[in-house]
Amino acid sequence: MSERRSAGPNRFKALLGAVGVMRAAALALAAGFALNCGALAETFAGAGVIGNRAAIRDTATGPAASNVVSAIAARLEQQGDAARLVFELTGQVSASAFPVVDPYRIVVDLPEIAFLIDPDVGRPAPRGRRGRDAAQAPSPLVQSFRFGRFAAGRSRVVIDLARPAKIIRAASEEQQSGARLVIELEPSDASSFAAAAGEHARLTPPPPAAQLDSQAPAGNSAKPIVVIDPGHGGVDVGAAGVHGEQEKAIVFDFARTLAAKIEAGGGLRAILTRTDDVFVSLDDRVRFARQNDAALFVSIHADTLDEPSVEGATVYTASNLASDADAARIAETENFADQAAGLEHKEDASGVDGILVDLTRRETRAYSRLFAATLISQWKNAASLNKNPSRSAGFVVLKAHDVPSVLLELGYLSSEQDLARLTSPQWREQAADATAQAIEAFFAARERRAQAVASSQRAR
Ligand SMILES: [Zn+2]
Repeated sequence: MSERRSAGPNRFKALLGAVGVMRAAALALAAGFALNCGALAETFAGAGVIGNRAAIRDTATGPAASNVVSAIAARLEQQGDAARLVFELTGQVSASAFPVVDPYRIVVDLPEIAFLIDPDVGRPAPRGRRGRDAAQAPSPLVQSFRFGRFAAGRSRVVIDLARPAKIIRAASEEQQSGARLVIELEPSDASSFAAAAGEHARLTPPPPAAQLDSQAPAGNSAKPIVVIDPGHGGVDVGAAGVHGEQEKAIVFDFARTLAAKIEAGGGLRAILTRTDDVFVSLDDRVRFARQNDAALFVSIHADTLDEPSVEGATVYTASNLASDADAARIAETENFADQAAGLEHKEDASGVDGILVDLTRRETRAYSRLFAATLISQWKNAASLNKNPSRSAGFVVLKAHDVPSVLLELGYLSSEQDLARLTSPQWREQAADATAQAIEAFFAARERRAQAVASSQRAR
């Protein structure tokens, strides 16, 4: 386990932060003022402190009850090789920190906290965009960090390390006004990091299965069930747009609009893998679809590329070999979602095979490709498609062998054109309409095919 000792006062020099404004906001929050998050964000922006209004409002959504502690600023401090991550809080919290390998990460588990912080504060500045106010100072030890809800009543900070580190301290402490959470790290080596991570994993029971409280179960439905899967959530923010837009929020808005349109059609039942801004593991998403006997699974995402000129939507189906290098890279990024939330990396242990499973998988994949083609032809008329919109790769979330599954990348957050579309309510309505029509057309085609098979069997 981690060694803990306290650092002397003034040992570290702050590199970032605007303490006066934080204190004022902390006092206001601690005093229980009913603060409007948008107004708070504007106060921050007006004072030249990190933050953009949309991002802060999004992060602050969720059940931030008045008794929930708020985090109002975060900064990374550096002295020599050692790093210290500090969150300014409105009250004390209990914290437990542990290391996770592959890649090197430090996870800090916390009770639920309302993070009223620009989520970009923990991200390294994207290439070619210097001088971003929200970007952290480079640290030789810490690459980036993220924070958010992990499960009902629980929040989490995940620190991506540039090299192995040991936890010197992870605790909250009183301050003159409010409190702060301090996570202090020092360099260590690969073998002691692996030993500490292994010891923690040995002593910790496996996490509970599906976050069912955050999902929308189907109940008893006579209608075919379509599972809509908004990617990412909670501590796993997903990709970031060039102005701080968050994939998890964009895809959630789209998924909800789409589900409402499917329901309004009357013939199908639409349910969501998450109905809140909370983390759901990739396996739990697949399990949720199978447990609900989904007839179709549509995972909604939006990615980034280094090429800002690449734009448009892409529809992915599962394949053992990726269709191209970009598809492979995007699958790799999307498959990293569990690790982004601090889960251990695990090899794909689906392990289901055999002749019957193989036959089912082959049929399922044919239906997945049929739906992908239907979706692309609907989007052709309604919304922007990538030059090469039909691709495939080994996405973990598409692995159910018996549920036709596709992953729809709505567009690239690295493209200004796509960002303008993806954040426009009109575009969202239009693209969700096209997607809902494709889903209805798919079920109609499937029904016709089933009838044709039945009548050819009768004719024999
Ligand atoms: Zn994604």
